[in-house]
Amino acid sequence: MAFETVIGLEVHVELGTKTKIFCNCANEFGAAPNTRVCPVCLGSPGVLPVLNAEALALGIRAALALNCEVRASSKFDRKNYFYPDSPKAYQISQYDEPIGERGYVEIVVGGGVKRIGVTRVHLEEDAGKLNHSPLGDYSLVDLNRVGVPLIEIVSEPDIRTPEEARLYMEEVRSILRYCNVSDCRMEEGSLRCDANISLRPAGQRAFGTKTEIKNMNSFRNVQRGLEYEQRRQAEALAAGGEIRQQTLRWDEASERTILMRSKEDAHDYRYFPEPDLARVELSAEYIAARRAEIPELPADKRERFVRQYGLPAYDASVLTASRALAEYFDAVAALVRDAKSASNWIMGDLLAHLKVTGQEIEQVNMTPQQLAQLIGLIDDGTISTRIAKTVLRDVLEQGKDPRVLIEEQGLAQISDEAALRAIAQRVIEANPKSVEDYRAGKEKALGALVGQMMKETKGKANPQMVNRMIADMIAGD
Ligand SMILES: [Zn+2]
Repeated sequence: MAFETVIGLEVHVELGTKTKIFCNCANEFGAAPNTRVCPVCLGSPGVLPVLNAEALALGIRAALALNCEVRASSKFDRKNYFYPDSPKAYQISQYDEPIGERGYVEIVVGGGVKRIGVTRVHLEEDAGKLNHSPLGDYSLVDLNRVGVPLIEIVSEPDIRTPEEARLYMEEVRSILRYCNVSDCRMEEGSLRCDANISLRPAGQRAFGTKTEIKNMNSFRNVQRGLEYEQRRQAEALAAGGEIRQQTLRWDEASERTILMRSKEDAHDYRYFPEPDLARVELSAEYIAARRAEIPELPADKRERFVRQYGLPAYDASVLTASRALAEYFDAVAALVRDAKSASNWIMGDLLAHLKVTGQEIEQVNMTPQQLAQLIGLIDDGTISTRIAKTVLRDVLEQGKDPRVLIEEQGLAQISDEAALRAIAQRVIEANPKSVEDYRAGKEKALGALVGQMMKETKGKANPQMVNRMIADMIAGD
């Protein structure tokens, strides 16, 4: 029996504010445990939360960037649960009136664009972090993360494959990074993902029983965790078994999902309105101002790169992976004759360099102007593409202008007609067999002579010029 997979994602994103959502504690990752706390986030009796205006602004900006309708009026609620990561024994969240609803994210899959619905975006505070001892005999709690502002982005069950789930996550990250809402570092937990997955017989409308997977802490693990669970459910259903509603944890080491709790243990959070915070009332001007903060987003940039520069869709998607990379490309493309050459150099040698060095484009030791200059020097015949690769490496290492490096190292192509003619004469005289072959119609023999010529000049001869010159000289003999 063929099954259709149905996936919905809940993505949690830490907002890049200076301070926490309801107090003045610093919002920073990596500080010594329990050093970024105060009576408010520790939930001492009698304290009152105050909403951080920056957190609200980033949340609204994110909701708009995810194409949500923003509520003019929303409120906070208490989500009650008892666990050591929450000193108040409740989390301030939003329940029935979130800041944003009915949005969507577009992903590029199978050569087309697919729209994934966003049910809601809401603001909430983060919980603390438990560090379990390796022996399992005790746990330590770090409350630095308590009260860090989060948005939760809930998708519609529109995702059909684990690959689509990964692409959706990547697109959400890209959008939020473009908007400077969050750094979205999965390895630091500022972007986290829980997934619901169920299978149903192809053609059936009703959803099957779903399981929830937590702890997928990288894009690769999101896809792999879902692939594992998809397989597990398909095998169980094919064998006539039933899926039980469970919460599972992806275990990277053993590459399988592990049971955390079953439906019987499901929490009843007893949500009720947060009495210590006023309703959030937004004016049309406020919402318009947040909308104005949104830059050109990845999907629009991809579309523009194809339209404006005539790039293939693949190039456009690679070059828009981050805002900084896209801006780098835009800057180079504006200075060169052919944007595709800018794309080729960035996607090839430059991205390879970033991968090897682990750098981001922002850290690279070569300005867009320097790359454009290098491309210009190939275009005007000063250097060959082969030499340009060496020069590029040197620019990246030394940060000097390509023109300066070429001068210093004497790398300019020999385009001096007389000098080349003398060398060509020697090559022709030293290789009578190739000359004979070429005269007999073997085109390849010309290549061998040009190769000799390049060898004699250590790659610095202008190849087009040499090609023409040798052909002419043999013909003229
Ligand atoms: Zn605090």
